[in-house]
Amino acid sequence: MSLIEIENLTHVYGEGTPFEKTAIRDVNLKIEENEFIGLIGHTGSGKSTLIQHLNGLLKPTMGSITIDGTKIDKNSSNLTELRKNIGLVFQYPEYQLFEETVEKDIAFGPKNLGLKEDEVKERVQNAMESVGLDFYKFRDKSPFELSGGLKRRVAIAGVLAMNPKVLILDEPTAGLDPRGRDEILSEVSNIHKKQNMTIILVSHSMEDMAKIAKRLIVMDKGTVFMDSSPREVFKREEELKSVGLGIPQITSFMRVLKKKGFDVNDDCITVDEAKESIEKYLRSRSDV
Ligand code: ADP
Repeated sequence: MSLIEIENLTHVYGEGTPFEKTAIRDVNLKIEENEFIGLIGHTGSGKSTLIQHLNGLLKPTMGSITIDGTKIDKNSSNLTELRKNIGLVFQYPEYQLFEETVEKDIAFGPKNLGLKEDEVKERVQNAMESVGLDFYKFRDKSPFELSGGLKRRVAIAGVLAMNPKVLILDEPTAGLDPRGRDEILSEVSNIHKKQNMTIILVSHSMEDMAKIAKRLIVMDKGTVFMDSSPREVFKREEELKSVGLGIPQITSFMRVLKKKGFDVNDDCITVDEAKESIEKYLRSRSDV
């Protein structure tokens, strides 16, 4: 059995009212342990509705979700266990920081689990290390004095300190400068590698997805429109366009070069790949 199995999942908001809205319809997905998944789709395509089912914030209207053997459907009542397994980092999570020190803020969740003080401290230390924050340097700082990127790391550490099996991040790089974006992405990538954590990343940035995700799930109008590797997904440029999505800029650039007759690889999805392909092309030219 897969770590997460979503079967015929449908969610209707305001069922039976004049505002009834089917946000996701008959979604079927299997997610294995240690996968790194990118979830993309135009605004309103159902991404947040889908991820809120994974940690029990929403219940299915129809269908079910099974996480680590626990099945949730419209009749399920106890969702506490589910919430322990799934860490959800909302958009702009730094707005939810509230304690007077970084350490207290990150400790809030594990303390609520009823863990002993030394266990809580260990969890806080590990979580801070996972997001690249030195425990002794930052533990007594007020989260509100930190830069945007650091605040966000504290907020992510607060979720990691719950030791979830699955980490879901909704637009974790939104609003950060390029350096802050790269730092957060590389921390997320390290967490995935070092802790064997299953990661689901929601992002509008095709560049981020190309760099980091191994599998891309594309949503459109509440259904799964594509589910494949980033490279395969970005090959289907016209179909993506039809649902309001683009491809990484570097991929467009390489396709333009190819159309103009340069013998480069137009399957490149990252700048590094493009660089390699262009260098290879230049070498082949200088050989002639
Ligand atoms: P996304 O995260 O991809 O932007 P959402 O899951 O937020 O998509 O929205 C899917 C659809 O459900 C949209 O049409 C949206 O307007 C609708 N929707 C989202 N939340 C609610 C809500 N609380 N009540 C009614 N409709 C909602």
